[in-house]
Amino acid sequence: MSDKPIILIVDDVPANVQVLASCLKDNYHIKVAMDGPRCLQLVAAKPPPDLVLLDIEMPGMDGYEVCRQLKNDPATQNIPVIFVTANDQEEDEEKGLQLGAVDYITKPIRPSIVAARVNTHVTLKLQHDKLTAMAMYDQLTGLYNRHYLFISANKKIARAKRHHEPVSLMMMDIDHFKDINDNYGHPVGDVVLQAVAKIISAQCREEDIAARFGGEEFVILYDHCDLKDAQVKAENYRLLIEEAKPEQITVTSSFGVVQMKPEGEMVDDLIKRADLALYQAKENGRNQVILGE
Ligand code: GH3
Ligand code: MG
Ligand code: MG
Ligand code: MG
Repeated sequence: MSDKPIILIVDDVPANVQVLASCLKDNYHIKVAMDGPRCLQLVAAKPPPDLVLLDIEMPGMDGYEVCRQLKNDPATQNIPVIFVTANDQEEDEEKGLQLGAVDYITKPIRPSIVAARVNTHVTLKLQHDKLTAMAMYDQLTGLYNRHYLFISANKKIARAKRHHEPVSLMMMDIDHFKDINDNYGHPVGDVVLQAVAKIISAQCREEDIAARFGGEEFVILYDHCDLKDAQVKAENYRLLIEEAKPEQITVTSSFGVVQMKPEGEMVDDLIKRADLALYQAKENGRNQVILGE
């Protein structure tokens, strides 16, 4: 598919869809839904639309209800909705805007005005997406950043505790990374970090949280994973990293691995214990995995 932003047009009258589509199709990828349930389906599909143009009067579920559902779901609430409707009463517009729509356009539409308003809101939406990604991800490696690890890990841990499921945390630190920078230069050091991050994310499941914790330190939180399984994963990483030889450089790494206590603990405490185990791995000569008690 093209990388144009996606506009979802929702209207039960094909002629209305045509008018809207023709003024937007040059700059956007257009999707169409003829009723509310189909709209909700397309919004949930991947990739989701960047903006929804929503009719109000439709058989079955009306546009207000569609908007209410979109705004109530955390997965879709940031997708801007513009009502495009024949309802031109002030109270209709007020209701639409109170439901969270960013704009309200009445029919008959003026295509150039619709296009301009759509452009404005798509631009804002894409800027918002970019900032959200910057707040969540580490720019160099594409892994989650430390901030995201902390906010998401405690939720995961609380749920695991409720369901009596094991959670483990692995902390990894590249050995003598300063020497790599000193011997080959900082840009090569960056390439090594990216290569290690790639190995990490390739082995992770969707539900694991793999984060760059600091310069050459990484943390992975494993759902449904006890200490023994986490040890196997860490051992596997250790070997993969040693064998990878990015830029022909042999890179080794040390690991501290811990499992959440049965009575539960916060991510800070897990990290503290993993860090102690990691320190032990360094003391013992590096390139090894140590389990925390
Ligand atoms: P140890 O085996 O004890 O972990 O030794 P080390 O050299 O890996 O650890 P140290 O903490 O002494 O050095 C880490 C280095 O990582 C120092 C810092 O300049 C470098 N570093 C931190 N962030 C980055 C980065 O984004 N890119 C590069 N290239 N280097 C970084
Ligand atoms: Mg209609
Ligand atoms: Mg370090
Ligand atoms: Mg290090």
